[in-house]
Amino acid sequence: MPLPNLPLLDTFGRRHNNLRISVTDRCNIRCFYCMPADTIKFLPRTAILSFEEIERVVAALAQVGVDKLRLTGGEPLVRTDIDRLVQMLKAIPQIREVAMTTNAVHLARYAEPLKRAGLDRLNISLDALTRETFVAITRRDVLDQVLAGIAAAQDAGFQRIRLNAVAIKGLTEAEVLPLARFALERNLDLRFIEFMPLDSDQAWSNEQVLSGQTIRELIEQEFGPLEEAPRTDPAQPAFDFRYAAGRGRLGLIHPVTAPFCDTCNRLRLTAEGKLRNCLFSLEEWDLREPLRRGASEAEILTLVRECVLAKQPGHLIGQQHFERPERTMHQIGG
Ligand code: SAM
Ligand code: SF4
Repeated sequence: MPLPNLPLLDTFGRRHNNLRISVTDRCNIRCFYCMPADTIKFLPRTAILSFEEIERVVAALAQVGVDKLRLTGGEPLVRTDIDRLVQMLKAIPQIREVAMTTNAVHLARYAEPLKRAGLDRLNISLDALTRETFVAITRRDVLDQVLAGIAAAQDAGFQRIRLNAVAIKGLTEAEVLPLARFALERNLDLRFIEFMPLDSDQAWSNEQVLSGQTIRELIEQEFGPLEEAPRTDPAQPAFDFRYAAGRGRLGLIHPVTAPFCDTCNRLRLTAEGKLRNCLFSLEEWDLREPLRRGASEAEILTLVRECVLAKQPGHLIGQQHFERPERTMHQIGG
């Protein structure tokens, strides 16, 4: 007889308390590292989990220790009434934090409703402040909307907003210092993340990875030595730093050059209800079918445990045996 309330430990002793929920595979921009420029086949709406179905998955997972959620996509703000989902998830007693990662194009409209719904934290993706580079990456001319979204989030009272910038060699080196200044001036946290092989054009190569180490050097040349900040959460993917001047925080995420798999505590739910134990997982566990036929919570949790127990020690990016998942980033949920 399975013990339903045991925490979600994998075979390497990692305890999973963190769920990333993709609420849609659709997006209003087309970042080249995530989506094709055109010919995208989106999921039909009926294939996507309803808010009530997502709520049921989270309520089950909350029984076994999941207490941190992040809504992502695709672009979460293109899902109608997303603030209602935030409110529903915040009402689950075990859930400590509901966060969101967004491109901020629609944030000026949504910042206040999301704050009212109880959203705890916002990560905003912004890779470039130069219009040409922004458009080269996103294939859409929406930098002004993104900047307005950031300002609206601050006005709505969100604290410790974090900018996420994907770092791409040959493209974003010149953006590193302007982004650092922009974040410092506005009291925003900033994290740079290495470009990972999840682009739909399959154009990724190791040579395009602008490493965390190079970014650190660029920042230190301008701002002086960075001090390592204490790790507040042992499972956090970023190495955090403080500027020598004492103000501002900077994070570097090196999934490619220094993977953090040994402390990974994340599970991922795709928009159509597949549970994944890793961004680079080649296997998935379908929760939608059991949800729609009215399966019990125990049955859902049995599938969740199978998924957790099958988790590999880490990804093999850059190594001989690395196999890319078929899904690209927008189909998984970053
Ligand atoms: N649309 C939202 C956004 O862009 O913030 C949420 C979904 S997006 C897939 C989540 C994060 O994944 C973004 O910060 C994005 O920059 C990042 N991302 C997407 N593809 C990536 C890749 N190939 N390598 C590294 N980061 C990537
Ligand atoms: Fe859309 Fe986010 Fe992917 Fe960019 S990274 S295409 S904003 S889902």
